[in-house]
Amino acid sequence: MSRSPVDNVLTQITEREVVDLTSELVQIPSVFRPGEPEANERAVAVAVEVWLRREGFSVEVQEVAPGRPNVIGWLDGALPGPTLCLEGHTDVVTEGDPAAWQFPPWSGAVEGGQIYGRGSADMKGGLAAAMVAAAAVRRAGVPLAGRLMVAALVDEEDAMSGAKHFVGTPLGRAVSAAIVCEPEQNELCLEQKGVLWVRVTLHGRMAHGAMPYTAVNPIAAAGQFLARLPQLERRVRRGVRRSRFLGVPHVTPTVARAPAGHVAQNNVIPATAELRLDVRLTPGLEPGSVLGAIEDLARDTERRCPGTRVTVEPVAAPRPATRVERGEPVVRALEWAVRRVSGRRPVFGGVPGSTDGTILRTALGIPIVTFGPGNRLIPHQVDEHVPVAELVEAARCYAAAAVRFLSRRD
Ligand SMILES: [Zn+2]
Repeated sequence: MSRSPVDNVLTQITEREVVDLTSELVQIPSVFRPGEPEANERAVAVAVEVWLRREGFSVEVQEVAPGRPNVIGWLDGALPGPTLCLEGHTDVVTEGDPAAWQFPPWSGAVEGGQIYGRGSADMKGGLAAAMVAAAAVRRAGVPLAGRLMVAALVDEEDAMSGAKHFVGTPLGRAVSAAIVCEPEQNELCLEQKGVLWVRVTLHGRMAHGAMPYTAVNPIAAAGQFLARLPQLERRVRRGVRRSRFLGVPHVTPTVARAPAGHVAQNNVIPATAELRLDVRLTPGLEPGSVLGAIEDLARDTERRCPGTRVTVEPVAAPRPATRVERGEPVVRALEWAVRRVSGRRPVFGGVPGSTDGTILRTALGIPIVTFGPGNRLIPHQVDEHVPVAELVEAARCYAAAAVRFLSRRD
């Protein structure tokens, strides 16, 4: 009896290899700390590069910033076809207080069916699963129509400069579809929330606290603004259809300070107050329409507080929410793979934050689906861990989806 190409690939994936590679990557700290020459992604990127070269991949290293290299590995099929990218990031967030961890944060300890450590779920586990999956495709000698790529990018946790760099390179521009291997408990996520950060500055007139009648107090104006924020949020929600996976958008004040950028004193009415808003966008809601609503509230606040001037500005470039259709070939390939590997019906979901996939989707216009091992809520917590069973299942799903997506379409 001859086995199918997918069977041949799946037999190449062992729990041992996926676990060992995840553990090895977790043991290399990769928190970025500006000003510390060794605190970056370099060491883990080198480990990924060495591994990919040893497995016979073509490799390109893209120096995004000093000590912060993207590593891209790929396999070219014998036949022409699309490029499928399995995407992950090599940076991790801070471990916080190491004493608060049950296992040391850089241990990569394997215990009770879990791998522990910072980055185990977010997302060295997903990256290791992608690497092993792609290597399995190569070892099985499955003929591909197109290119299978693994992209290990830097700086996802902050400015996403790795993804932004990647989409401007010839390798990045050639990507046709991507699976983003972030921890989503192996749900097929078709939507991702977007984010818009806004600074609202309220300008008044500074004065002595004993003579408030000579001041224009920006703190009172900030109070007026905040009091009407729930009303603004309701208006924003009316402007978009509720997402099945992500629910409704949120407009949340996260910073309030006065004076803005100066020393606070009990007897001084400050000249300025500053608010920051964290706006989470759902698919169909444009950042510009939310900014417009915030501007309207600023004008309203000026009318209610004579003498105050209110300015509104985005703190960084907004990241729009994304959505892909279920009929996209990459989604169908992964859906098929989940059934094939696990025997269960795929669960669809949504990503509560934005990822490198947001950049790939918006800059390249390509379909992305986010799918990876690890509980969605565990990233950035102490005792971060990834279940071995989910990790191995993810690797198998990536491999099966790749074979499916890159098989010849007649
Ligand atoms: Zn992540």
